[in-house]
Amino acid sequence: MERKSARFIGIRGLMLVLLSASVLVTLATCLVVAHGVLRDALIRSALESHKAYAYKVASGIDQFIHSVHERLQYSSQLIGSGFTDRALVQAEVKRLQVQDSELQIVLTADVSGNILDGYPQLDFDKAVKLANAVRRAASAGRPLVSQAFISPAGHFSVLISNPVRDGAGNVLGLIGGVVNLREGGVMSNLLGGHQLADAFAFVVDENLQILYHPDATRLGAVLSTSATAHAALRGGEEGELEATDYRGIPMLAGYAEVKGAHWAVVTQQPRDNALHPLRNLMHDMLFKLLPVSLLGLALMLVVSTWVTRPLRQLANSAQHVPELAASRELHAMNAWYAEAAAIRSALVSGIQSLDQKISSLNHAAESDPLTGLVNRRGMNAALAILDAQAQPYCALALDIDHFKRVNDTWGHDVGDVALQHIAGIIQSCSRAGDLACRAGGEEFCLLLPDTGLQMATEIAERIRTTIATSPLDKVGTMTISIGVACRSCAEQTSAAILKCADERLYKAKATGRNRVVSADWPLAGEQPA
Ligand code: GH3
Ligand code: MG
Ligand code: MG
Repeated sequence: MERKSARFIGIRGLMLVLLSASVLVTLATCLVVAHGVLRDALIRSALESHKAYAYKVASGIDQFIHSVHERLQYSSQLIGSGFTDRALVQAEVKRLQVQDSELQIVLTADVSGNILDGYPQLDFDKAVKLANAVRRAASAGRPLVSQAFISPAGHFSVLISNPVRDGAGNVLGLIGGVVNLREGGVMSNLLGGHQLADAFAFVVDENLQILYHPDATRLGAVLSTSATAHAALRGGEEGELEATDYRGIPMLAGYAEVKGAHWAVVTQQPRDNALHPLRNLMHDMLFKLLPVSLLGLALMLVVSTWVTRPLRQLANSAQHVPELAASRELHAMNAWYAEAAAIRSALVSGIQSLDQKISSLNHAAESDPLTGLVNRRGMNAALAILDAQAQPYCALALDIDHFKRVNDTWGHDVGDVALQHIAGIIQSCSRAGDLACRAGGEEFCLLLPDTGLQMATEIAERIRTTIATSPLDKVGTMTISIGVACRSCAEQTSAAILKCADERLYKAKATGRNRVVSADWPLAGEQPA
């Protein structure tokens, strides 16, 4: 009797859907969180690297400028006492330039900034930009790194200069060296190969003019909107920040100030490049998480099958209540947690109350005054209850054989006594939960709830044998014929079952009376007459 509806999903299916959904949500959450954490870690690490690199480069440039100043200072002391001695000054200028390959030109100038000596020898009158830088340096009267200018050799350069003083400390002029900022210069040595792939560094002076850039076309450009250059030139410690470059591309940058020249070193890379490893990391993570998630899902499914088993058994039992001989199967069921135990107990008490309801009709419904059995009306009420339930039951249709003869031979009163005698035997052979009814005249019906065909046939046989072996005074021995029918599915109506029992009763009459006919008629060992 399969009543499970296709419209409803089973609890196991439901658990499968819920657990799969929860595993998917957990997996997605893990990936989203991991993506965020890894992205932040990659950005932080890139920013730290840029800051450290900018600091390293700025320190290198600072040391270089400092060392040039030291050498210039040494030379200025040397020539300070004999500044008018051109041979001495020229010898020192030459020595310094030859000794130091970073200094493209070494020169001296008077306090007004007029170039006095220089090595290598150049036509300084034509080197206008150099001359301007020298004049500005002379007017400062202190160690200085000039603004960038194009050197006579056509290189983007700066002048590093020191004042030359006499013994009394009066400024006589300056000695300075021209440093090439690009090819082969100190900048390209320090900044040329960036330690991070896809990254590059540039240097700006205090006016935000680019002094060094891997892209030569950018040299001399003014970065008025560079947040990183501004941050570096504000002074203080080195730092890092996320900013967009002049093309609007998001960048991760580190910066540091070259204190000796008030320059800023900025090193940066596009943010997307720094996050490039993220994709592979996420792939790795997904491929590692997936098998673990699937294993977890399988384990959860096993556990959920175990947890829902009592519920599924109860649901099965509830659907097959008509096939339960009693609540035995329900009692045997392992309802090991509160909800399952509650449902089982409700089912058991439901079955019990049904039995009690039917048996209570013995007393509540109208009784037949002659026999004391339930009358036709009570029988119909009992059948209506059985129709409303899916409970199994059997019905016995009983009819006294040749009863007319009893009336005819001994009179109606004796006939009544005989009816009472037979009714008493039917009642005594039935059980507490059974319902014995007088269907009308000398016909009876016995309803046997929760009873299978074999048990009903045995009860019918017991009634038949008892009547056949219990003679009544005067009347003597009477016999009875019985048809047995059982409900085989919940959809069968009581009318159909009674009709079936009547047909089998008719068969019993037709095949010689004093016999029981049930489904497997003729009964084993008994031949029809
Ligand atoms: P069969 O073996 O075919 O059943 O034969 P039968 O004589 O038992 O059947 P039939 O239907 O011919 O007769 C039934 C008789 O039962 C007829 C009727 O007088 C009698 N009867 C019905 N109700 C009562 C009753 O309340 N009291 C008495 N004394 N007899 C009744
Ligand atoms: Mg009869
Ligand atoms: Mg009859």
